[in-house]
Amino acid sequence: QSPPGELVSVAGVTRDFGGVRALDDVSLSVSSGEIVGLVGPNGSGKTTLVNLLSGAMPPTRGTIAIGGRTTTGLAPHRVAHTGVARTYQIPKPFASMTVRDNVAMAVMFGRTGASLASAREAAVRHLATVRLEHLADALPDALNLHQRQLLEMARAIAAEPVVLLLDEALAGLNPAEIDDAVAVIRRIHAAGISIIIVEHLLRVLNQLATRIVVLDRGVLIADGEPATVLRDPAVVRAYLGR
Ligand code: ADP
Repeated sequence: QSPPGELVSVAGVTRDFGGVRALDDVSLSVSSGEIVGLVGPNGSGKTTLVNLLSGAMPPTRGTIAIGGRTTTGLAPHRVAHTGVARTYQIPKPFASMTVRDNVAMAVMFGRTGASLASAREAAVRHLATVRLEHLADALPDALNLHQRQLLEMARAIAAEPVVLLLDEALAGLNPAEIDDAVAVIRRIHAAGISIIIVEHLLRVLNQLATRIVVLDRGVLIADGEPATVLRDPAVVRAYLGR
């Protein structure tokens, strides 16, 4: 039985790649309305957890549920239909389609039966949420890295998810672009979408996240309020020590 308001449940999840244990008995619960920052040194299992949550690969052991529905073993598109959307570290938009149509395709993918006209209308709304509507007619090649990341977010929210997984959506951005991206993430959150964000910039997560979860070598070593977690000696050691 999942607690009321629980949106994402990860229970005793282990993932092995051959002899490598990328995640080791991880349990985690995310409630509706949260922005959870997922942090940890390189190779600690963050992307693997995102891959398991989005259904890109199954856990070796353990179960995952979204909104009380077990998704373990479902194909990625079935997991998407339970309300999970994700972005990728390296966005790969369709190069020959306009920004608007890239988002419209994502709308049609998430809502089978939508007409192209209604998908384009919805696409413009999603582009407005990420403040990219002025580039609706541009081709993706004309966008800079920041704008491509925003397009990636628009494509993800086009599926109208309940939870959005952001995998290093701020990587490579300058400080002004980071502020802008953080404002966009807050807008997405304000629209009722819960967020799990993989991010190295602890300063940003300290402002943005309602909670921070720390992985170290596949093990969940801390889970709590940002201010508390970022002062936790085990967390500081995982980042600075070794
Ligand atoms: P992070 O995102 O925190 O940098 P990852 O989840 O990418 O960590 O990786 C965790 C561990 O799992 C690493 O040792 C990595 O080499 C391994 N790993 C991740 N994905 C694969 C894969 N598809 N095949 C083999 N090993 C993988």
